[in-house]
Amino acid sequence: MIKISKSCLGDLEKKAVLDVLNREFLGMGQDVLNFEKLLSAFFGRPTVCVVNGTSALHLSLLACRIGPGDEVLVPSLTYIASFQAISACGAKPVACDVNPETLTIDWKDAFTRLTPNTKAIMPMHYAGGVGHLQEVYTFARKNNLRVVEDAAHAFGTLYHGERVGSFGDIACFSFDGIKNITSGEGGCIVSNDMDVINFAKDARLLGVHKDSEKRYNGDRSWDFDVFAQGWRYHMSNIMAAIGIQQLLRFEDLAKIRQSHAKLYDKIFNGDNRIKYLPNNYCDVVPHIYVVRIPGLRNRLELQEKLLERGIQTGFHYQLNHKLSLYKSDNCSPLINCESLAHEIITLPLHPDMSEIDVTFVADNLKKLI
Ligand SMILES: *Cc1c(COP(=O)(O)O)cnc(C)c1O
Repeated sequence: MIKISKSCLGDLEKKAVLDVLNREFLGMGQDVLNFEKLLSAFFGRPTVCVVNGTSALHLSLLACRIGPGDEVLVPSLTYIASFQAISACGAKPVACDVNPETLTIDWKDAFTRLTPNTKAIMPMHYAGGVGHLQEVYTFARKNNLRVVEDAAHAFGTLYHGERVGSFGDIACFSFDGIKNITSGEGGCIVSNDMDVINFAKDARLLGVHKDSEKRYNGDRSWDFDVFAQGWRYHMSNIMAAIGIQQLLRFEDLAKIRQSHAKLYDKIFNGDNRIKYLPNNYCDVVPHIYVVRIPGLRNRLELQEKLLERGIQTGFHYQLNHKLSLYKSDNCSPLINCESLAHEIITLPLHPDMSEIDVTFVADNLKKLI
């Protein structure tokens, strides 16, 4: 079976976890500090580690003082985590359409959904590409919006020569088991805004004021004050130990993802039944590989037939504005989302695949459609 995605771990990760277990300090400590230092160097900006990507989004929005009555613009074609992070603040996720080529948020559609309550926009870097991110920032600046990038798919991606996370307002990454790097579960917030960074450092530890610095040294605050609502959103040393090893070999992991995506593109190039994303995989580090098959009527049948040949596929994503919790009657149609949502299919992509696997998947897709 060629899996759609999987965690890819080596001896270094296993040894690092064993080291943490042997030291018998499993909570948030020195390893988390070390992971944050490495990430800060990677991005060139302050970085706070948290328990997953969803909590990174949640805390970032809260740090921007987004709450009940506020609205956040977000593409409908995203993981449910983006929407849940917004509603967890008591704010309203406002579903926006996507650009039909890049599958990232269409800021012109977002513009039509602005209200006096709109406080932020959450672009999601679909599959690893950022779409027209510069235009999103221009739109946000003109309309006085915070930008919280859901960069869960885009760890390592370069945009105009700069790493996602190294520029802009706030970027949130996920290190869950199948992302470009993993720490088991995990995530981080990257920003130059020290109010956001300091807010997240306290809020991830139940709001205990300035507890992070003590925890890094294996200590904790016994005599403390709390000024705001917090959560148990910190990262553990076990997770950080995995994350550090993954980050140290990220260049190799990224290269395999990029070369597999290039190979898929090459095989599909010239086949007008199959459309692929307009990504340059010298810059984009792809988390998933998605194709669109215009006019596809029976996606489930295609998925089943691929599975019979030992190929696992998926659909990224269900449209969030169709879900019971988020659907609203006065939402004007999301034309691109609705016409393409049933025509996209995600093919296997992970660093443990070989070129033979990629070719096998691509050839079988071509045969079956
Ligand atoms: C993975 C993911 C998240 C959330 O990350 P977790 O670490 O799983 O909480 C958010 N948004 C998108 C688009 C993702 O793919």
